[in-house]
Amino acid sequence: MKEKTALVTGSTSGIGLAISDALAHNGYSVVMTGRRKTLLNDLVQKRKDEGLRVFGVPADLSLAPESDRLFEAGLGILNGRLDVLVNNAGAYVHRTVSEIDAPSFDALMALNLRAPFLLSKLAFPVMKRQSGGTIVNISSVAGLQAWAGTSLYSATKFGLRALTESLLAEGAQYGIKAFAICPGYVHTPMAGPSRVDAREMIQPEDIARIVLAHLSLSGPVVMKDVVVSRLGAEG
Ligand code: NAD
Repeated sequence: MKEKTALVTGSTSGIGLAISDALAHNGYSVVMTGRRKTLLNDLVQKRKDEGLRVFGVPADLSLAPESDRLFEAGLGILNGRLDVLVNNAGAYVHRTVSEIDAPSFDALMALNLRAPFLLSKLAFPVMKRQSGGTIVNISSVAGLQAWAGTSLYSATKFGLRALTESLLAEGAQYGIKAFAICPGYVHTPMAGPSRVDAREMIQPEDIARIVLAHLSLSGPVVMKDVVVSRLGAEG
């Protein structure tokens, strides 16, 4: 059987770390990436010591050339095969429309939408050559609805769903699947202090289980816009 391979962005923390761990524990060779080199190296070494096949490539995905560099290095490590790309790295900004200026608009778009776009563009021909692959985009409930203060973040996450829909339509004939996960509050550093008890929140491992569930589906079956909410709550 061929070795299964994955690249997970933003895997030094929160949802990305949980997905990366779930994939590694399920037999994938995983390229982990984040901005913080020392943290990344420590996380990778710990997992290697446990016998997992994980590798680290640091990258700042707010800079366009870093997507190319990360992809090239990651694909080299994975011997030219990529079964799963998880576009997870992202940041949250809570500001009204009047408070957002052009540089902050560009910065969040670059990280939350342009990097997933560029990495998907790079993954596409590789997956086409393999006659299959899966691209997972971590959107948000804010990618389905916007509130006061979320215009910019929501625009990036609505955009990520649009990218997912196009990838799915363009990839279907090659066996390439794309799907978006739209979680409410997940217990990670990004969610910060919340009025919701941490134990009541969605856990990063819940999102990882959805990724594994999607990967377990039979060939012609996909999930679309998987919305993940807390029982009895909107987000
Ligand atoms: P987190 O802060 O724990 O992790 C974010 C990850 O992104 C980290 O690994 C960080 O290194 C990486 N990252 C940030 N800026 C980067 C950059 N410039 N270049 C490369 N990597 C960078 O947050 P999280 O909650 O795990 O968020 C992961 C994704 O889930 C994000 O896209 C976020 O929008 C989305 N999301 C989070 C929630 C939530 O409530 N936590 C809800 C819905 C969607």
